[in-house]
Amino acid sequence: MDGQPEPRSGEWWYTVRCDRCSRNIHAYRDTSDGDRVARPEGPGELSLTCASCGHRAGYPATKLRTQRID
Ligand SMILES: [Zn+2]
Repeated sequence: MDGQPEPRSGEWWYTVRCDRCSRNIHAYRDTSDGDRVARPEGPGELSLTCASCGHRAGYPATKLRTQRID
């Protein structure tokens, strides 16, 4: 999809597992490169589209985890 940020090797990203295909969705970049343990706070949901299967769904911010791109 156009405009989709492309994770690069060595970067840290907040990811969440797709409800449908269980692959990782890269929500947005963790600019602290994993140093910061803090996560997005609050009851908010992120509306994300899976790059693998195209499934669009809302995910609670608490499901996010940081991951280094291999
Ligand atoms: Zn998916």
